[in-house]
This record gives sequence, C-alpha cells and structure tokens, in this order.
Amino acid sequence: MSTSEQLFEQAQHHIPGGVNSPVRAFKAVGGTPIFIERSEGPYIYDCEGRRYIDYVLSWGPMLMGHNHPQVREAVIRQCEKGLSFGTPTELETRLADRICEIMPGMDLVRMVNSGTEATMSAIRLARGFTGRDSIVKFEGCYHGHSDSLLVKAGSGALTLGVPSSPGVPAALADHTMTLTYNDSEGLRQAFAEHGDRIACVIVEPVAGNMNCIPPQPGFLETMRELCSAHGAVLIVDEVMTGFRFGLQGAQGYYGIEADLTCLGKVIGGGMPVGAFGGKREIMEQIAPLGPVYQAGTLSGNPVAMAAGLATLEVISAPGFYEPIFTHTAQLCAGLERAASDAGVAFTTNHAGSMFGGFFTAAEAVSNYAQVMACDTAAFNRFFHQMLQQGVYLAPASYEAGFMSSAHSDADIEQTVTAARSAFASL
Ligand code: PMP
Repeated sequence: MSTSEQLFEQAQHHIPGGVNSPVRAFKAVGGTPIFIERSEGPYIYDCEGRRYIDYVLSWGPMLMGHNHPQVREAVIRQCEKGLSFGTPTELETRLADRICEIMPGMDLVRMVNSGTEATMSAIRLARGFTGRDSIVKFEGCYHGHSDSLLVKAGSGALTLGVPSSPGVPAALADHTMTLTYNDSEGLRQAFAEHGDRIACVIVEPVAGNMNCIPPQPGFLETMRELCSAHGAVLIVDEVMTGFRFGLQGAQGYYGIEADLTCLGKVIGGGMPVGAFGGKREIMEQIAPLGPVYQAGTLSGNPVAMAAGLATLEVISAPGFYEPIFTHTAQLCAGLERAASDAGVAFTTNHAGSMFGGFFTAAEAVSNYAQVMACDTAAFNRFFHQMLQQGVYLAPASYEAGFMSSAHSDADIEQTVTAARSAFASL
C-alpha cells in the first residue's frame, strides 16, 4: 500500500505541483495532500484506509454526500448505452426543462462542462447583448479562471483592474472593475460614473471563495436595481450556491432574480457539468439562434446529464434541505462554543448549507479585507489538528465549508469534539 507521501512524490514527476487544481496541493496549509481512494456518504477514505468526515465535498458538488446510490446507478445505466454521441439527446431536454421549471427567471439554458465555462460564456453573452465591454466584479469573489475574471482591484475602488495572473493581458483587465463585496455605496458610485459602459455585474450571491461571506441586507437588491436602471446584465454566479440553498438557489433564498445565472457543481452530481441560462431575449443571442459564439464537444454529455437528472430528483424530495441547514447551524454553534471554552478568538459565518470559520477577535467578517486580516497561521494549525482526528476541512482558510444531507448528528458531534481538542492545542 502506498502512502499519500509516496503518491504525492510520484505525482510531481509529470503533473505540475502533483495536482490538477492548485489548492489541492496543500500549499496554503503545508504538508502533504491526502490521496483519496473512495468515498461514501459524508466520508472520504484515503489510500491507507483512513476515514475522514468531509466538509469539502469535492468543493461543493456532493450535496447528497458521496457516491449516492441513485446517482451512481443512473450513471452506470447510461454508461451501458454509450458515453458520448455529439448529437442531441432527450436527457439534455429533460434536464433543461427541469432547471427552467425550478430556477427563477430561467427561460433558456445552455449546458457546458465547468463553472469556468459557464461564467466565461455568460460574460461574453452579456457583452454581446449590451454592446458594452466593461464588467464589474467583487474583490474576493472567484468566477473561474477565464482572463476577464482573473482580475483584482486596482489601487482605488473605482480604478480599473489589474491582472491577478501573468498571462492575463492588461488591456483585457482594463475592462474589469473590481469593487468591495457588500459595499452598496461603492456600486452606486461605479454606476454613477461608468453606468453607460457597464455590460454586466457578476456576483457570488454568497461568497464562498473568500471563506464564507453572506450578502448583507440590501447589497443584492441594490445590484438588481442598478443593473436594471442602467441596462446592465446581472449575472448571478450560482456555481457554488445553486441547489445548495434550496431548489431555487441563493436567488430563491434571498428573493432576487438574475438576468443570467451560472450553474455548476451540484447540477452535475459529481460529473463535470456547468450551465448558464436566463432571460429569453438575452439567451437568444447565443449561437445557433444568435451571433454570440459558444460551443463544446462534450457539452450536454449523456452520462453527466443522467447524473444531473438523478441529483435533481433526489433533492426535490419535500423536506430535503431543512436538516442540512440545521446541521450547518449546529456545527457553527458547536465550533464557536468550543473555541470560546478554549479562549480562542474565533467566529463563524453560515448561510444555507455553507459555512466558514474565522480566527479573529472581530465580531463580524463581511468582506475580503476582513477575511485577509484573520490569523492564517492559527487556521493552518487547526486544519492539521482536525485532519489528524479524521475531519477534512478545506486546505486553505479562504474556502467555504459545505454540509451534505449525509452528515448526521453523530458526525457533527464528532467534529465538534475534535475541534475542542484542536482549539485547546492552539
Ligand atoms: N464560480 C464559482 C462561484 C466557483 O466557486 C467556481 C469554482 N470554485 C467557479 C465559478 C469555477 O468553476 P469550475 O472550477 O468548475 O471551473
């Protein structure tokens, strides 16, 4: 049997950093990533047979826990008929119909293979539809790795963006304005100064890529109002939140409606799927109906569609979400109590089935600067203490945690007990 150390060493021979997505490499927390062999319900099992209670859930998709029998069987049944045809299938229509039936403001939807593709395509569509180039995003929100979206704030809130990765042309970053999350006033000012140039605003309705930052009352509503007033497209990136906050996603949860919605993660039940969709007049601009080009060899893949359909069937059962939300709140309360008993400055945020913990004495954490001011070294020690006790948290302090319907009271209790000992050791 190989250890994770051995496998990681071998992986680095031909895979950059040994991983196919950077945060998996444990660079932020140090140490060796655990190599996983199998998963079941709330648990993942590493190559040495060790079990972990998993709050990463493949970075969000596994809302029903790992290896759900209904999804697994749907995938196997479809595999027996063939893996990919490159032609239309009835499965695509059924999934599109179901998504449009459920999601607010969704008239037409296009399937893609990842969240990155969904947001990248939605941005192009918004630009094509409005005939404008500038886009607005928020500091600390991540929308995948396409050029226009890998842009951070310039020196002042209203300056144009600067590339956050080599390889992103400055000329392209110039078209991205990066504002402060939860700052409605900043958004008003941006529209007042640049309103006729803004093609779209793209937002994570609950930010999950700078730990977990829920929207403050009025923030999403202001955004909706300003986009409508200035003819800009509101893109709500629900790649993470879609189907995690109830069937209607964060839009249903907070009572707002996007012009375009991006989906991913849960919608594929663990298979590579993304989607973007929304108002008919905008979506009709996409090829072959309209002139805005977008395509994909494996888009609408039948195996992935079967997984998505099975997932939607399971999560549509009455009462599916309430226990997950309750467990999320219970876990956060338990972690806060454990920290407080150990005298550790720590607070949590949660919304729906997403949560985050912050090593800070601050009462509330509501934007990127506040997240960055937290004690990362304390988180890193806490992370490894939890890992040793069989609890897998995201291996970086700026990632949200996820709850699934498979997590039980006993899993939460075990996690809080582990946290007591981890906090005490800090
Ligand atoms: N949008 C959001 C909100 C995300 O959280 C992510 C991925 N974490 C993406 C887009 C990109 O999705 P993918 O990794 O599937 O390309």
